[in-house]
Amino acid sequence: MIYTDTRDKTAKVDFRTAVVNGMNEKTGGLYIPVEFPKLEKSFLNKNPEPPFRDIAFEMAKPYVEGEIDDKNLRAIINDAYPFPAKVVAVDPNSYILELFHGPTCAFKDFGARFMARVMSYFNRGENSPLHILVATSGDTGSAVGSAFHNVPGLDVTILYPKGKISPLQEKQLSTFDNNVRALKVDGTFDDCQKLVKTAFTDESLRSKLRLSSANSINISRLLPQSFYYMYSSLSVKNKAWQYNKIEEPSIIMVVPSGNFGNLTSGLIAKKMGAPITGFVAATNTNRTIPDWIATGSYNARPSIATYANAMDVGSPSNYERIAAMYSLEEVRQLFASYWLDDEGIINSIKDCYSKTGYVIDPHGSVGWKAWSDIKNGAMKDLVAGKKNDYTKPGLTPNIPSWVDDVITKKNAIGVILETAHPAKFGSTVTKATGKSPSIPDRLEKVLKLKDLSIPMENDYEQFKDWLLENLR
Ligand SMILES: *Cc1c(COP(=O)(O)O)cnc(C)c1O
Repeated sequence: MIYTDTRDKTAKVDFRTAVVNGMNEKTGGLYIPVEFPKLEKSFLNKNPEPPFRDIAFEMAKPYVEGEIDDKNLRAIINDAYPFPAKVVAVDPNSYILELFHGPTCAFKDFGARFMARVMSYFNRGENSPLHILVATSGDTGSAVGSAFHNVPGLDVTILYPKGKISPLQEKQLSTFDNNVRALKVDGTFDDCQKLVKTAFTDESLRSKLRLSSANSINISRLLPQSFYYMYSSLSVKNKAWQYNKIEEPSIIMVVPSGNFGNLTSGLIAKKMGAPITGFVAATNTNRTIPDWIATGSYNARPSIATYANAMDVGSPSNYERIAAMYSLEEVRQLFASYWLDDEGIINSIKDCYSKTGYVIDPHGSVGWKAWSDIKNGAMKDLVAGKKNDYTKPGLTPNIPSWVDDVITKKNAIGVILETAHPAKFGSTVTKATGKSPSIPDRLEKVLKLKDLSIPMENDYEQFKDWLLENLR
């Protein structure tokens, strides 16, 4: 597969280059495949749908063609995904896609684990390790640390801001041994990011250590997230008659979003033939994308802290990929867009629990509320000509092409992506439901491990000296 760049369509690189570089340094653009090949009809029409890993293999194949052979691709996928993506029906028109069954209890495990194994594969001929530096405001660090832990040829240093992440998040990223370590920086997330960026541009450091990054713009984190869109949409399509008495379902993927990597992966799955009719782009108060859809002008802004903190992104980097794949008018046809404030998040967790008994996390709750409003007729007002005020929580005023499926045909089924386990955000969930969510064993275990983080001043020279002394 050839990869091009969102800012320079003449750029052409192979998969390895796109993965190792992360982004095109020259243009600042993001890599994107030149095409999204459709899967065979006979494969898509299987009932029951193929197992998750078979779908993953078929979807990954064209993107690594000529660079990773089938046998190694199989091994990468089998090793990356010993856990499932689960599709749970909660009411006749709503399913929840649970993406938290991986080791760190968030959907980022799907992308990070594939990326780690691909990087390891590409590094296999080298005789020195590839050093990954990653700054984190919480969730990315643990997913990357866990994904790369004990993966041969790779070495990870996580930088996180001291006192600015939750105690559980801190345990999740500070307790690795061997090839993964965490530096507790006396500064903010931005300071951590600056230390990492400075290291990447430091020629004298780079001449001694091979450095790479693992952030969410990397195409090798985005492609694997498309696997669960394909899997869940095929699964819901096959279940729709049996459980919902809907013959031809119109499947709407409801995606709680921050940097919009997850939603972009959904677009890739749709292009590859997943039976998905539309999307709901659901955000918290960081409503840069809803505002773009409502007004047509894109304005990045500083992020605002919310209860759904993994979605606190004011300048979503994957906007560039979405805009490279679809025009604004196409986006308005394909997407409903919705945003919710903190009060709404608490009410939505409460509402989901009281109506269905399902304990949803703050991120998923944004999707739950968006889909509940749509299902309960919020689009009727739009069709009747009422213009929503996009500066208030709720739907943006665009009318997607699938509106009739919701209002008249009633064959729309929402699939809400549950991006994290509720126990990761226990205090918010408890505030909403009055009960603390049960903690999975793998989180409970982490709480008992010893914190191995290394204190670090917010000072580049000290950071560099530490790297040179401790990494090889
Ligand atoms: C990262 C994250 C998100 C946002 O995903 P994007 O791909 O950045 O849009 C949502 N929920 C949780 C729990 C996350 O960790």
